[in-house]
Amino acid sequence: MAAKVWLVGAGPGDPELLTLKAVRALGEAEVVLIDDLVNPAVLEHCPNARVIPVGKRGGCRSTPQAFIHRLMARYARQGLCVVRLKGGDPCIFGRGKEEADWLAARGIEVELVNGITAGLAGATQCGISLTHRGVARGVTLVTAHTLDESSLQWRALANTGTTLVIYMGVARLEQVQGGLLDGGLPASTPVAMIENASLPQQRECRTTLGEMTAHALTFALKSPAILVIGEVAAQAAVSVLEHTA
Ligand code: SAH
Repeated sequence: MAAKVWLVGAGPGDPELLTLKAVRALGEAEVVLIDDLVNPAVLEHCPNARVIPVGKRGGCRSTPQAFIHRLMARYARQGLCVVRLKGGDPCIFGRGKEEADWLAARGIEVELVNGITAGLAGATQCGISLTHRGVARGVTLVTAHTLDESSLQWRALANTGTTLVIYMGVARLEQVQGGLLDGGLPASTPVAMIENASLPQQRECRTTLGEMTAHALTFALKSPAILVIGEVAAQAAVSVLEHTA
């Protein structure tokens, strides 16, 4: 039997944001390796699969990447249909390409399946249009985790003229704030901090670049959260006003 691994994005959390292709892959899966940012509710689509948690959350006990590679290869070589399920999109800060290349180099067939990345979902769930016409000409996805902290990088990020969506920023709010302020972004720039995007426990904190660290503290912002920085972050949730005419 041909060995195959599906590298599947499970989306940001809401199980209804899964793609049809993800659902099909899960339906065919015999083994599912699941990251800890994935909502376990999506496992209803693979009731007969063996599910193996391989989470690697920052700061917590983690499964070494090399071990995950070997696990995928071992099951695929047994002729089993393997799904590697990742939060959001597998190739947005998700090591999807690394894993795909590693498997392909060993002759194992791989298929990547997109998921909706947390930054896009979080913004939409809060009524923010990341590339709103006339307000933002683009969007930049950035990780705060490996961000080069030289002032040049910050200056460049502060001057893109695009909406910034920052992943893995909760533990590095001060660096993000300081870097962007030093880089020339005004303190009044709107910021939305969105925790647990698309899940029932989603929370959002609207603030400004100048006040984001202080507000995150009073709000008790926790990971996972994304930061949306730019004029569009002031946009309000979509609501239907009562028609009085
Ligand atoms: N591949 C994932 C990102 C993994 S990096 C994706 O495409 O979404 C992990 C970071 O993603 C977290 O630190 C957080 O910044 C963000 N994240 C993931 N799920 C999230 C969620 N439901 N709400 C807010 N942020 C989330």
